[in-house]
Amino acid sequence: MSTFSVNVLGCGSARPSLRHMPSCTVLNIRESLFMIDCGEGAQLGMQRKGLKFNRLNHIFLTHLHGDHVFGLPGLLGSMALMQRTGRITIHTFAEGVEVLQPMLDYFCQDMPYEVQFNVIKPERHLIYEDDVLRVRTIPLSHRVKCVGYLFEEKPKTPHLDRASADFHGLPRAMYAAVKRGEPYVKPDGTVIPASALTKPAAPSLSYAHIGDTAYIPGIAKEIGPVSLLYHESTYLAPHASVAKERGHSTAAEAAMVARDSGASRLLLGHYSSRYKDDKLFEEEARKIFPDAIAAYEGLTINLD
Ligand SMILES: [Zn+2]
Repeated sequence: MSTFSVNVLGCGSARPSLRHMPSCTVLNIRESLFMIDCGEGAQLGMQRKGLKFNRLNHIFLTHLHGDHVFGLPGLLGSMALMQRTGRITIHTFAEGVEVLQPMLDYFCQDMPYEVQFNVIKPERHLIYEDDVLRVRTIPLSHRVKCVGYLFEEKPKTPHLDRASADFHGLPRAMYAAVKRGEPYVKPDGTVIPASALTKPAAPSLSYAHIGDTAYIPGIAKEIGPVSLLYHESTYLAPHASVAKERGHSTAAEAAMVARDSGASRLLLGHYSSRYKDDKLFEEEARKIFPDAIAAYEGLTINLD
């Protein structure tokens, strides 16, 4: 089973259509769910994918355009009806708190769970950390304040090599120390290095979520060689000037960012409804970055 998966619940732009729902992505990292943007229909998308509401504790908003937040009142209200408990943290700008708090005060009184806001800034900073994960913001260039999010797993501890541990008579009480890198000194004084008693850890996985934004050439350095890069591609190259004017990118520009950052894979989305064939985005991007995939509602990508 995957320990880090990306679920696309909505990958259209502007308004829901019969082809696409507005922006919403849910990461499943070791059975904890992290939502990025909450477009209309997010709660239905979760149900369709079998994503459990009580595992969702963090919602990260990229910016305050309706197609990225209109699903929030419904989702929060439904979770109250489901008697969900605990706490949900919404990561958003100060303006987001201003807009959402009165709505919560009106519609969500006597909630069985707590809603907490974490106020973010339109600059690069660490906004979340737990035992396994760090989340940073990446400032973007859109018509309103907007950030991307970089999710990075912390380095993992190596696995114990049971055969080698048994061979050297490693006591069980030393397992954790050896996995931390400490050597084992045998009763006869022989030193066994940790590397001889362990197998290398699985590589740390990472995901960058970049949308909505105009093309920023220097952003590749901010992102780095992530396992998967989501980069918005609202337009195709023939409409590059419209994209720039509206603070969006083309599929070709998304591909250039993927190539320049050293990402392993690229996920495209946030398509303008003027296009009727999403494969065109994939084709345009693949000329520059072959490992590009056009997102669709219900798509799950496992990073491990
Ligand atoms: Zn927007």
